[in-house]
Parts: sequence; structure tokens; C-alpha cells
Amino acid sequence: MTTARLLDGTAVANQIRAELRPAVEAFTARTGRPPGLGIILVGENPASEIYVRGKLKSAGEAGLRADIERLPASASLPQLLDLVDRLNRSEVHDGILVQAPLPASMGEDAESRVFDAVSPEKDVDGFHPVNVGRLVQNRATLVACTPSGVIELLERSGITIAGARAVVIGRSNIVGKPMALLLLHRHATVTICHSRTVELAKRAAEADILVAALGRPAFVTPDFVKPGATVVDVGINRLSTRASVERLFAAGSKRLDDFDRRGSITIGDVHPSVAGVAGALSPVPGGVGPLTIAMLLKNTMTAAMARAGWAG
Ligand code: NDP
Repeated sequence: MTTARLLDGTAVANQIRAELRPAVEAFTARTGRPPGLGIILVGENPASEIYVRGKLKSAGEAGLRADIERLPASASLPQLLDLVDRLNRSEVHDGILVQAPLPASMGEDAESRVFDAVSPEKDVDGFHPVNVGRLVQNRATLVACTPSGVIELLERSGITIAGARAVVIGRSNIVGKPMALLLLHRHATVTICHSRTVELAKRAAEADILVAALGRPAFVTPDFVKPGATVVDVGINRLSTRASVERLFAAGSKRLDDFDRRGSITIGDVHPSVAGVAGALSPVPGGVGPLTIAMLLKNTMTAAMARAGWAG
């Protein structure tokens, strides 16, 4: 039984993109060039190819310049750092994004070394330690796209954050930690949970706002959810066997049909039955995903204006 109000990420993302359009046009008219985004893609990871295509398409539709810079999987870390350096010095690129994951052959600390090498002014992913530090101090301009997209989704859906008890499951640098900080800065009382949390379901069920960002398909079941709570599902998990889909969705359901047509479906970290307990729920797909891209465009615009010396 579905009772939860669906938090429509696609609609909110469209709204953000529509708001960006006049700013992009004004920037282009005044500077004689559109805001520019440089995307670095190393190797041939199929999921990364799909993400990057989506980012290029959205950027183009928003009137931004977007260039893809490819390196083969055999590229060395110094080659990648050289490319980052070139984009750092580029006049026409205001934002730089290095698509993760990097090939394992580049070494364990490659990602942090590359993210650290991106100029903080062009760091539209918000991963650079300078931008993370500014976020901690609540004076950030470039914040990680997925968690800032979650905030847009909550605020534009009329969910009250101030005073709410918020629980974030997941403490990664790209989602969980910045998510918790953004909620804190909006005056929620925040708990961060992770794989060592004791009595996880009990902690989660204390939340008025529960953000699931752990990367475990359908892990968050109704016992994790206080009746009426807002649940944001950040997870993106692919199910590629029919049995795994049948365990979650009844015969004749749309998701099972989707599986039969495509051979796989994407689901979140939240079990479908949570829709019967939560007050509001972000779907997967169509929830947080579209907002991540919209926030990337917004960050590129913010970086472009700052580089041009305009106030945001
Ligand atoms: P990570 O794997 O980096 O982090 C997962 C976090 O979840 C870790 O902090 C881990 O805890 C915690 N965790 C894992 N298993 C459990 C468990 N059984 N119980 C409690 N906590 C657990 O993932 P990301 O943060 O990068 O991504 C999380 C999810 O969000 C993924 O599904 C990813 O695909 C999705 N995602 C979606 C985006 C979007 O645009 N919608 C963008 C980015 C990510 P510990 O630290 O203790 O290991």
C-alpha cells in the first residue's frame, strides 16, 4: 500500500534548470562565452560512460559549454594530473569534473590526489579539501552535488528541516558527511550512522528525515522508519536477476515489467514497502539522481560567476 507522498526529483531538477537559463544567457551575453565545464573520463567504465553522457547532454541543453577529455585506462596518474592542470589553466572552463571511479591501476590514493589537484575555484564536485573545509564552516560556495540536491529536494517540497531529527545512513566523503553538514547548517539535529552503528534500525526510526546513502539494495525496511517520516533514498543499485526483483516487487508490477523489457532495473537503498510507512519518499529512479546533475550545472554557473568577479 502506497501512502507516502512522492518527492519528485525530476520536477525539482527541471525547476532548477529553468532558473539557471537566464543566468547562463546573461553570462554568455556579457562575457562573450558560455560557462564551461570540462569533464575528464579515464578508461571505459560503462556506468561512467552513461553518467558522463547525461552530464554532457544536460549541460548542452542548459546553454553551457561542456567538453569531455578522455584518457585511456592505461594512462598514468601523472598524465591525468597534467590534464587536470591544463583545465585548471583553461580560460574557457569554469568547472572541472573528474569522473570516478578511476582505474584501480592508478593506485589507491589516486582519487584523492586528483581531486586535490583540481583548482578549488573550479571544483564543481565540491570534493577539494578547501571546499570541504568551507562547508564545515558553513561558508561554502561549491558543495558536493548529490547532498546539495537532496537539500533542494527537501526545501522545494516543503519539508521542514530546522528542528527536525535527521539521520543519515552512510558517512562517505561524497554523500554522507556533506549531507550531514548541510542538514546541520539548516538546524536539524543530526545523527550519522554507518556499518559499525549499533541498533541501526532503532537509530534510523528516531528520524523525522532519514537519508539512506549506503549502497545496499532495499536495505532500509519499514522497521527503520518512523511513521510519517520523510525518507530520501540516495542509493543507486542495479538488480540484474529476475529472482532479486521478484523478492521486492509483486507479479504484474511495473518494475517487474521494466526488468522483463530491459534485463535489469535500478533500485535504491530503501525497500519498496517503506512507502506504506513514510510520510514522504524520494523514488529511485526519479528522486535524487536528476538533482545531482542539476546541481552540477548550478555549481558550474556559480564557479563561472565567481571567476568573472560577479556576486552569486
Ligand atoms: P560508499 O560505499 O562510499 O559509502 C557507503 C556508506 O554506507 C559507508 O559510510 C558505509 O559505512 C555505509 N554502509 C555500508 N553498508 C552499511 C550497512 N550495512 N549498515 C550501515 N551502514 C552501511 O558509497 P557512497 O556514499 O559513494 O554512495 C552511497 C549510495 O549512493 C550508493 O548506492 C551510490 O551509488 C549512491 N549515489 C547516488 C548518487 C546519485 O546521484 N543519486 C550519487 C552518489 C552516490 P562505513 O563507512 O562504516 O563503511
